[in-house]
Amino acid sequence: MSRSHYAGIDVGGTFTKIGLLNRQGRLVAKGQIPSDGFSDKKIFANHVKDALVRLCRAHGLRWGDIEGIGMGLPGPVDTDRGMVLSLTNIKKWERFPLAASLGAVWGKSVFLDNDANCMALAEARLGAARNARTALCVTLGTGVGAGLIIEGRIYHGPFFLGGEVGHIPIARGPECACGGAGCLERYVGNSAILDRAQRLLGPKITLEKASALACRGDSKAKRLWRETGEMIGWALSGVVNTITPEVIVIGGGVAKAGSVLIDAISETIQRHAMKQLKKKVCVKKALLGNDAGLIGAALLVKS
Ligand SMILES: [Zn+2]
Repeated sequence: MSRSHYAGIDVGGTFTKIGLLNRQGRLVAKGQIPSDGFSDKKIFANHVKDALVRLCRAHGLRWGDIEGIGMGLPGPVDTDRGMVLSLTNIKKWERFPLAASLGAVWGKSVFLDNDANCMALAEARLGAARNARTALCVTLGTGVGAGLIIEGRIYHGPFFLGGEVGHIPIARGPECACGGAGCLERYVGNSAILDRAQRLLGPKITLEKASALACRGDSKAKRLWRETGEMIGWALSGVVNTITPEVIVIGGGVAKAGSVLIDAISETIQRHAMKQLKKKVCVKKALLGNDAGLIGAALLVKS
């Protein structure tokens, strides 16, 4: 029974999720701990290891049963050197050889990647894009995260920023934190959708309520999500024409708006992409939900 499981860690600004994946790709255990004090790498290493050991014990496993540990981080990662390039929530981790350092302390191989890339890997191996060799996974939230899977593997590119479709410019629009302007994220990030929702549906609306209203058939709420989907579809048509993904997976909280959003993305791609490609590409809702990042982090061990 030795080395029968992979551990995943999904590091967030407020909470860090941990989980154990068996060889069949099933998440057999999960938990979470507060990310307080994680700027201190010693505190991080100790707290996360303790939590993982407890999780192992609670499921009849020993530390020795863990083959390796994968970790998803909310920022770009130099996967060749196992090094975080930039993080907004956790200070002092940048350009530090985190994978090697944690690996030495924990006595395990440690693999790092960006959290959106982890989600994409999980959806490509076990979720909505299973069996697709080339897939794009877009995660809608405060920002627009994305991961690109090419020939079954995460595409990082030479600067570890491959697949960042959230920063495709779609208009001569406002400046973006990435250094560009008019990026897709400025139009379909949560705060931009909320601004439009408040104009259409009143000042007290939330995105959850707007999703629920759309699911019940409210015409203004449906218009909100249809317009959001059209902007995403417009940007992704260019991705379809260049990368030729077989599947585009849409995940994140906003995807709860359901078929109206997914249909608008799909129909816009049908209007704008090359005719040979629009018949091939399929837009799907993410399958693995909030566990995708954790599952994908664990999958880094064997990817
Ligand atoms: Zn941007």
